[in-house]
Amino acid sequence: MTSATQSVASIDPFVLLQQEPAGSTVPQQKLFGLDRTALIQLFAELGEKPYRGRQLADALYKQRVAHLDEITTLPFALREKLSAAGWQIGRPTIAESFKSIDGTERYLIQTAAQSVETVWMPEGDDGAEFSDEEGNPAASGWKRATICVSSQIGCAVNCQFCLTAKLGLQRSLTPGEIAGQVVAVLARHGVELNKQRVNLVFMGMGEPFLNYDNFMAAVRLLIEEVGIAAPRMTVSTSGIVPGILRFAEEPVRPKLAISLNAPNDEVREAIMPINRKWDIAAVLDAVRKIPFKPRERVTFEYVMLGGVTDQPEHAEQVIRLVRRANLPAMVNLIAWNPGPGIAYSSPTADSVAAFQKQLLAAGIQTYIRRPRGRDIYAACGQLKRTTEAT
Ligand code: SAH
Ligand code: SF4
Repeated sequence: MTSATQSVASIDPFVLLQQEPAGSTVPQQKLFGLDRTALIQLFAELGEKPYRGRQLADALYKQRVAHLDEITTLPFALREKLSAAGWQIGRPTIAESFKSIDGTERYLIQTAAQSVETVWMPEGDDGAEFSDEEGNPAASGWKRATICVSSQIGCAVNCQFCLTAKLGLQRSLTPGEIAGQVVAVLARHGVELNKQRVNLVFMGMGEPFLNYDNFMAAVRLLIEEVGIAAPRMTVSTSGIVPGILRFAEEPVRPKLAISLNAPNDEVREAIMPINRKWDIAAVLDAVRKIPFKPRERVTFEYVMLGGVTDQPEHAEQVIRLVRRANLPAMVNLIAWNPGPGIAYSSPTADSVAAFQKQLLAAGIQTYIRRPRGRDIYAACGQLKRTTEAT
């Protein structure tokens, strides 16, 4: 494990993704990522009874085993049989971690060929939708924690203010790689989900709705096998309309956040080129197709860029936009987190506070997202390009 001081001092922001050394072992078939039905099927093919599949699912997702030989519920001979057939657990592993002074931890999680980023935030991130006042005090001192999960390595959407965009899209993650980030972090902290409250935000690297099938398969694994309830999860999208429309049809799904980020189409187009494909009205039309539950709300994330989106007239436009949207909504203000090579400026604390006040006065529920782990490049939009020089 790397301490914050060491890691920050030696960060080279332009180090590209870590690659596994050439000649490293070719991945075998991975059990992690398969659901219960697939595991039962696998055992059927090996001439084994269905309950073995259930035992394996529990070992992978509840007991969080990392190696076949830790699965003591399966007889030795059966583990040997699996291994001989080329099966391994194959859960992503935490390769490196960086700890912030505020308790946030950023992990580089090793997948097949590259690493991906996951963030652990004890005590959530103070965004209201993630807070939960019923939480019981947990043995380890935190009442609730939020895990920020990546859905792709890099991102193709190219938002001008986002560091992840600088990578372009490297590749999409598999369901096992997405759910595996969560299980690896739960295992690291020894989390007991029946006692400790964990929320998931799919707000790490990548655009979840451009990796829709794998993202939703991971969500189902996390709900059905790992045991995290759907309302504890929030997915954020930059406004991929076909994805939102599919999401609206899901019988069980996380909550939704939309990266609005601008007060009007003109500004949004300048900072989020995707707005040319799906403008604000198109995104809102799609969101209106979602059958919201009684107290559910959509979150509009709003990145505040100094001078660009943080002025009082912008707040006025946001108020009109949110009213016209006619949706159960709330606004989450995010002060822009700087990144190397991005020429925006952070808003002042006063302008963020004034913006919130203006929206609140108009009756719009508005929260300020506290930046977490800025010192270790773990805050919103800071993921990637910040590994230690090797
Ligand atoms: N791709 C998805 C989810 C990941 S980004 C999306 O864009 O919604 C999660 C949030 O971080 C988004 O709301 C995004 O607008 C915001 N963000 C990106 N870069 C940021 C930065 N440098 N500072 C603050 N927020 C940022
Ligand atoms: Fe991709 Fe989201 Fe960053 Fe835009 S803000 S580039 S969609 S990760």
